[in-house]
Amino acid sequence: MDRALLVIDLQNDFYPNGSLAVPNGDEINNTINKLMKSGRYKAIVATQDWHPKNDKSFASTHNRKPFSEYNQGGIGPVLWPDHCVQNTKGAEFHPDIESEKFNLIIRKGYHYKVDSYSAFYENDGSNLGLAGYLQELNIDKVCIAGLALDYCVKYTALDSVKSGFDTTVVISATKAIEQDPKKLQKILDEMKNKGVTFKE
Ligand SMILES: [Zn+2]
Repeated sequence: MDRALLVIDLQNDFYPNGSLAVPNGDEINNTINKLMKSGRYKAIVATQDWHPKNDKSFASTHNRKPFSEYNQGGIGPVLWPDHCVQNTKGAEFHPDIESEKFNLIIRKGYHYKVDSYSAFYENDGSNLGLAGYLQELNIDKVCIAGLALDYCVKYTALDSVKSGFDTTVVISATKAIEQDPKKLQKILDEMKNKGVTFKE
């Protein structure tokens, strides 16, 4: 079975001290570097959230508070603090991540009007081309790590299943924004019911 590793949004803004910090995000760096060095993966694909300034997914664009509810045309369910703006430090990969191991970088979120949580499809369903890339390499198993478990990792995993890949999320190599264990369990159950498997 040929495997790919997808490492989601390992960018400064999603780490502690970043503008959209995922709690304890830095604790996964060693595990991710080890996975990338393991030799188990035929391809290592990174995503890079890559927003224009004044992106419609930013609360500041609407003069609203970050995390306000908003659900319209490819944006939502909440508005985000400004993050991962193109060519800023916050959009760069974390310096402790061995990004030279990435074989492909998929940029997403670069359309002003549509956000993209998944590495496969934007929130309006536009194709980012990743399934085709993986199929061309005869990859049948996709392992997913990175930030954040309850948004971009989740939607990437669901789209990976839909695209026909055997899909596993590596729990020790991801962290969630949601800190309530019950709410997080609900999110994991939803993923499991849709065909995602988990491994430590
Ligand atoms: Zn984003």
